[in-house]
Amino acid sequence: MELTQQEKNILLDSIREIKDFPQPGIIFRDITTLLNNKEAFNLLMDFLTKRYQKYNLDYIAGIESRGFIFGAALAHSLGVGFVPIRKKGKLPYTTISEKYSLEYGFSEIEIHIDAFKNENLEHTPKVLLIDDLIATGGTAYAAANLIQKGGATCIEVCFIINLESLKGSKELEKIIPVFNVLDL
Ligand code: AMP
Repeated sequence: MELTQQEKNILLDSIREIKDFPQPGIIFRDITTLLNNKEAFNLLMDFLTKRYQKYNLDYIAGIESRGFIFGAALAHSLGVGFVPIRKKGKLPYTTISEKYSLEYGFSEIEIHIDAFKNENLEHTPKVLLIDDLIATGGTAYAAANLIQKGGATCIEVCFIINLESLKGSKELEKIIPVFNVLDL
């Protein structure tokens, strides 16, 4: 199941480009203009719901903070639980964490130790990981590792936008299935 080019154009036209944000040379893809556009947001969420309803997922995990928006909306429409993957120091209970390197220095993301143990499942919980955008793929790679550490299986990673030239998606695909709604 694929979006038509016309549907893709509705989504593409709804994403705003901000030049030199947050630093010179970066073109920031602003998805707030997709979210407040009811035609685009509903088209996207209906499409993702149709795609993932046959996956028999147990949870959606979303990466802070824009992954929370798409992830929680999708979890609700699929009738499954939602797990926030947060930046270090935000979650109140015992956590497990994963470090990853950035251009300068490193960052760390966390989930609660019992994030995927909320139900009496007889199988390893099946998780879809979602974020708004993949650039280098470092954040998503760390998040997928974190899901495994949490005792669940990350069965696919979904991005609304893939920045194709950075090749993060191509690299991530070597270890896990990846689905990109839009390639830019
Ligand atoms: P990366 O780990 O390099 O794949 O970076 C992905 C994370 O950074 C995602 O959570 C994105 O929301 C954010 N990000 C990176 N580049 C951009 C960009 N050009 N526009 C908007 N968000 C970005």
